[in-house]
Amino acid sequence: MRLSQMLFVTLREDPAEAEIPSHKLLLRAGYIRRIGSGIYAYLPLMWRVLKKVSQIVREEMDATGAQECLLPQLQPADLWRESGRWDTYTQAEGIMFSLTDRRDTELGLGPTHEEVITTIAKDMVRSYRQLPLHLYQIQTKFRDEIRPRFGLMRGREFIMKDGYSFHTSEESLKKTYQDMDRAYSNMLRRSGLKFRAVDADSGAIGGSGSQEFMVLADAGEDEVLYTEDGLYAANVEKAVSMPADAELSPFATFEKRETPGTDTIDKLGKFLKCSPTQVVKNVLYQAVYDSGITVLVLVSIRGDQDVNQVKLLNELTKLAGNYQAKTVLFLTVPDAEAQGKWAAKSLPLGYMAPDLADDYIAGSKEVNSKFLRLVDRTAVDLTNFVTGSNESGYHVVGANWGTEFPLPATVVGVRSAKKGDRAMHNPEQTLQSARGIEVGHIFQLGTKYSQAMGATYTNEQGEEMPFIMGCYGVGVSRLAQSAVEQSYDKDGIIWPVAIAPYHAIISIPNISDAQQVEVAEKLYAELNQSGIETLLDDRDERAGVKFKDADLIGIPYRIVTGRSLKLGKVEVVERATHKSHEILIEEVNSTLKQWIDAAIK
Ligand code: ATP
Ligand code: MG
Repeated sequence: MRLSQMLFVTLREDPAEAEIPSHKLLLRAGYIRRIGSGIYAYLPLMWRVLKKVSQIVREEMDATGAQECLLPQLQPADLWRESGRWDTYTQAEGIMFSLTDRRDTELGLGPTHEEVITTIAKDMVRSYRQLPLHLYQIQTKFRDEIRPRFGLMRGREFIMKDGYSFHTSEESLKKTYQDMDRAYSNMLRRSGLKFRAVDADSGAIGGSGSQEFMVLADAGEDEVLYTEDGLYAANVEKAVSMPADAELSPFATFEKRETPGTDTIDKLGKFLKCSPTQVVKNVLYQAVYDSGITVLVLVSIRGDQDVNQVKLLNELTKLAGNYQAKTVLFLTVPDAEAQGKWAAKSLPLGYMAPDLADDYIAGSKEVNSKFLRLVDRTAVDLTNFVTGSNESGYHVVGANWGTEFPLPATVVGVRSAKKGDRAMHNPEQTLQSARGIEVGHIFQLGTKYSQAMGATYTNEQGEEMPFIMGCYGVGVSRLAQSAVEQSYDKDGIIWPVAIAPYHAIISIPNISDAQQVEVAEKLYAELNQSGIETLLDDRDERAGVKFKDADLIGIPYRIVTGRSLKLGKVEVVERATHKSHEILIEEVNSTLKQWIDAAIK
């Protein structure tokens, strides 16, 4: 491609809308253009990158025996009603765009395809002989994200590879899951990314496992906890660890103390000169179940620990049956406005005790009249502890479960693991923290969807069994941008060779110099012919502008038909290192071939 004929517009300044380097660079270098919130046009250079990423993904998927297909993006609401996700996805989470057609039929724009694929399997797979089966597609997904941001990282329209597998046994599912683990590692390695596979939350259905593939970068939205020995890595949502040991309580007898201005654990610890590990803090949450019932949840946890909302959500989902519900729609810390809707009187915030009276709740048809009281494992064994008194400005010290406070019946593990904690597999290892961008997720679903949608096959004994399923996603467009987030410098993007839009760019310093043009044209034709994807910067611009642009768009090799022509040579500059080589014109092709092959391997 000739730059003189290309839609090629680069910006000198950082666009105001962009916060992270990769987003700025993709906009500045003319790869993407914002059309609306979370909606981007992939311009020609970007599209080439996306096609390369897709091709790597496709090759690795095909190598495992998975079959590519293409499923509809318009999905009938009825399918989502069968799985029970229509209301959650269109209203509660509201992540799915929905519409009504001219026949008054409700439809959604696919955020994911479990419902569609399960329907296909239900209709077409009758017998165990047809299993296992693994179908995948590479396609645009739609999600009405609450906070679209960072360009392609969190778009409302983005490209995903999603695959779904069907099995007769857990072992068969595990095998495909392991194949995917390998395929995903290959994809990311081949795309030139530094990444880590981590344990991930698999929601309340638990399932037997789920892993996320995290590209390591400071701008990542996720926190990863890992150990140096390489034996443990998990998303913080899921991570487990050993909490620090609790210190012995200095309070031997139970009494109420005036503790003015101590509405945080930190202030309380300083005031009472005690360790936060000797405090039971009581944190209030508000859960709305899909039965329409709001439940106020009081979690008692050791003062130095924090509640992990993902773990709490999973525990609350397990308890849904108690509230005639299947799932939790929202889980929040109720703010003043939310409290206004159910609080019978003002709450002693910052001074609540585990036995905060139920008459703080004005119960109604929609609001459960009793607190759901949970205690985290870290608080169960504390003795002579400090906690609230249910009166602002006062705490109690020297308290014990079973004496002053009944131990809540439901013991849960909802503490967040954090950096510096001792690892479970080896207490000598401490957890380290890193930021990650989730580019892939593999998940053992089990029978969640097949059971809900009545998707069965006949086994060898002639019995109807629900399919055992797995699902596997890669954010193709997010992956492409995360490569930039991991690889850039002050001059611009440094694409990994395997996914660069072009391998080489020939810059003609002076287009009125006939010899420069002639050699450039010759190389341009020759390189492209031999499979080295090459751009020709034949614009009537100053050399400096051309070099800046070539650096900005991040093409791995820049060929300059300049001064060394008189020696029969051109200058070849490596983008990543700015290293310059004088190479004989007739050797450019073979040299580049070697370099590219070595880089892509
Ligand atoms: P996240 O936690 O980031 O919202 P998710 O867990 O909802 O992602 P999945 O449903 O597992 O995502 O989708 C599979 C992959 O699709 C993710 O690993 C991610 O790479 C990509 N992805 C998800 N949402 C977006 C988005 N809004 N924009 C771009 N890529 C996305
Ligand atoms: Mg995910």
